[in-house]
Amino acid sequence: MSADVWAEIDLDAYRRNLRLVQRRVAPAEVMTVVKNDAYGHGIAAVVATAVGEGVRFVGVLDAAVGVGLRASGLPRSVRLFAWLFAPDEDYRAAAAAGVELGVSSVDQLRRIVSTTSTGASGAVPRVHAKIDTGLGRAGARPEDWPALIAAIDAEADAGRVEFSGMWTHIAEASDAEDSASIAAFESATLEVPPRRRDGLVRHLAASAASFERADSRFDLVRVGAFGYGIAPGGGVSPSSLGLTPVMSLRARVIDRVGDSAVIPVGAADGLPDAVHGLEGAAAGRRVALSIGLTETLVADPTLDPGDVVTLFGREDRGEPTLQEWADALGTIGEEIVVRLSRRIERRVSGES
Ligand SMILES: *Cc1c(COP(=O)(O)O)cnc(C)c1O
Repeated sequence: MSADVWAEIDLDAYRRNLRLVQRRVAPAEVMTVVKNDAYGHGIAAVVATAVGEGVRFVGVLDAAVGVGLRASGLPRSVRLFAWLFAPDEDYRAAAAAGVELGVSSVDQLRRIVSTTSTGASGAVPRVHAKIDTGLGRAGARPEDWPALIAAIDAEADAGRVEFSGMWTHIAEASDAEDSASIAAFESATLEVPPRRRDGLVRHLAASAASFERADSRFDLVRVGAFGYGIAPGGGVSPSSLGLTPVMSLRARVIDRVGDSAVIPVGAADGLPDAVHGLEGAAAGRRVALSIGLTETLVADPTLDPGDVVTLFGREDRGEPTLQEWADALGTIGEEIVVRLSRRIERRVSGES
């Protein structure tokens, strides 16, 4: 790990973003989505901050991440939810740690039951039935939904699972598509036996929909990107939504070559390579970056070794944002931060 390249993680900014979302979606609750490592921001500090703000749900990609959080002391009052599993997943550790499970098919339900009802732990897994409302990524097809609900209902009667939630994931790409998904989700609710509906947590929206559409919020919204101050793109900046980027990526000049300064970070650290037109900021100016494998050239004749270059950071400081990088690359901000190597030190500021 080089001391000359680091990602600053501003937990105060994270807290402000989270509060903004919480106020906006209330009375729906917020599930803080961390996937594997809080989108490259560092899972422990982010989860601690979220819990400090009253968040009662944390969303992880795979169960092992949730088991790890519980082992590190996350209290049982904070519910964990995971949704990505291997076909031969052993769900025992997840059930014991109280990680609630997204379930998309009767086969997966059988697997959950067969791996958890044999163990000595005695923990009854909580399941959230997933319906595919048009995205086509995972979830029961509408025609398979009644069978999935009936199977969960029967396992719940037998005390082998708890029927805790129902959910879906939507495109958030067009209003019409999202409206169709919301309507499909509403009608899927009606197929759940009435005596089960009361205890169900219903969740559909991620950041963009939760912010824009009251009808998408149901009981709970799953928010990743907006918490980190990452905007949805398409010309919408974080500041226009009232969000502050949480991560700023910086490096120190280690050398000079001709008219350029050299910083010790490159594609090998997860930066996008061979793209022209990316800018950073140094000494209050924009500077053109040329990213190589392990080093990046900063076009500026005045920078000296030891000077700090910001690759992306905050608009209010005149720095390029992650959003600018994403637009230049034709991608979304998340894609950039999740690729940043663990070799880059995360320096946390603010209180968790
Ligand atoms: C990543 C993810 C989210 C969070 O999405 P953001 O746009 O980052 O808020 C929510 N739900 C699921 C299923 C996800 O995979």
